[in-house]
Amino acid sequence: MTQPLLQIEDLHVAINGTEILHGINLTVNAGEVHAIMGTNGSGKSTLTKVIAGHPDYMVTQGDIKLRGVSILEREPEERAREGVFLAFQYPVEVPGVSNMYFLRTALNAHRKHRGQPELSGAEFLAVVKEKAKLVDIDAGLLNRSINEGFSGGEKKRNEILQLCVLEPAMAILDETDSGLDIDALKTVATGVNALRGPDRAFLLVTHYQRLLNYVQPDHVHVLLEGRIAKSGDAKLALELEEKGYAWLEAAV
Ligand code: ADP
Ligand code: MG
Repeated sequence: MTQPLLQIEDLHVAINGTEILHGINLTVNAGEVHAIMGTNGSGKSTLTKVIAGHPDYMVTQGDIKLRGVSILEREPEERAREGVFLAFQYPVEVPGVSNMYFLRTALNAHRKHRGQPELSGAEFLAVVKEKAKLVDIDAGLLNRSINEGFSGGEKKRNEILQLCVLEPAMAILDETDSGLDIDALKTVATGVNALRGPDRAFLLVTHYQRLLNYVQPDHVHVLLEGRIAKSGDAKLALELEEKGYAWLEAAV
């Protein structure tokens, strides 16, 4: 048996003393795409942030393991170097730091951690240009400050660009599909599908089934009130699209 990439065990999480997640269990193997669906306020973003190591979220019980090792005591940067990538629901703007500079610094930090040589400016430029084409991002955005003045769609494309450049093992996308027009949605899907592979897994958080028309998940989990109310395969997403969440709420 190979080691799961990510294991979440009886995870309880609190913010400001209020418990939001009440015992989540989730096993993600390399090569798999898991979708997390659920109503607003059910704890989806909380789950993604706690995996990435956001300091506001307190793990009060349970564990999060990456390749069999607990990461609870690791800083967010360490988790990132170990391959955890989180695309936020609301990407932050970082004035004064160019997109290119950020991406190259991040990529080289990860490469160094993996024992690979750092990329020179010219080498990096070649990589980023190729990836920018893949996600159909305007080259002008690369030289601007991170997300500053980017439209919603541009921010999301930019996150997919980060994903494609950094090639993380455990990619977590929080509502990367929300507010996107159909072209941008397809771009997100293209990026995800291009990166799908035996060494990588995805956790796609999405309120709607829309993105899942383009990215076929292996597993779908419904989060309701801080608990996984139901898990299934891709058919579950279609069922939710048709029936909504109320039938599951009754079951919780
Ligand atoms: P979802 O992403 O599924 O919409 P969230 O994880 O954002 O849900 O929120 C889950 C619950 O946690 C909500 O009731 C929300 O109000 C609460 N919550 C989230 N962040 C905070 C915070 N920083 N302080 C207090 N409550 C929070
Ligand atoms: Mg959310």
